[in-house]
Amino acid sequence: MRIVLLGPPGSGKGTQAIRLAEHLAIPQLSTGDILRCAVAAETSIGKKVKTAMERGELVPDELVVAVVAERILQADAKTGFILDGFPRTVGQARALDDMLRTRGLDLDCVLELKVDEEVLLGRILNRAKEAVGNGQSARTDDTEEALKVRLKEYRRQTEPLIDYYCARGMLKSIDGLQPIASVATSLLEALDA
Ligand code: AMP
Repeated sequence: MRIVLLGPPGSGKGTQAIRLAEHLAIPQLSTGDILRCAVAAETSIGKKVKTAMERGELVPDELVVAVVAERILQADAKTGFILDGFPRTVGQARALDDMLRTRGLDLDCVLELKVDEEVLLGRILNRAKEAVGNGQSARTDDTEEALKVRLKEYRRQTEPLIDYYCARGMLKSIDGLQPIASVATSLLEALDA
C-alpha cells in the first residue's frame, strides 16, 4: 500500500506513521527525519536546509522531491510505504503523482489527522520537555516561535492538499484528538473501508 499521512505539526503523524508501518510491514518515510539526519551529518543537503528547518520554514520543493524520489526506489519500499511529512505543497503532490505514474503506480489512500490548533502548541512543547527529560536534545524547531511559523506554513502551503486529494476521492479524515490507540484503530478502519 502507498499511503500519505497529512496533518499539522504536533498532530501525531510520526507516532501514528510508525505504528501503521509496523502493522502493514511497510516502511515509514519521514522527510523530516531524513532531513534532520542530513543536517546532523552536515551533508551538502543538510547545510542547505539547516536554517530553514530551524526557523520552521519549508525547504524548497525540488530538494525534498529529489530526496523522496531516491528513497522510494529503495528495495524496502517496493511493496509500499507511508509518507510522513510529504507532500507538503501542491507542487510536491504533483511531483509525487508524476513519479508514481511513470512507474505505473498510484497512491492508495491519503489519511488526514485533524487536531485543533490550540492543542498543538501544548503537544509540541511537551514533546520538547519529554526529550530533555529523557536525556535527548529537543528538536531545534520545537519552540513556540518556530511552531508559529510551522503552523503558518501548514495553513498556507499544506492545507490546500486536503482539497487536492478530496477532489480525487482519496482523502479520509480522522479525529487526531482521540487517545493514541484509538487514532491508530481509526486509521486502520479508514484504510479497510
Ligand atoms: P517534520 O519532522 O515533518 O515536522 O519536518 C520538520 C521540518 O523539515 C519542516 O518544518 C521543514 O523545514 C522540513 N520538511 C520536512 N518535510 C518537508 C517537505 N515535504 N517539504 C518541505 N519541507 C519539509
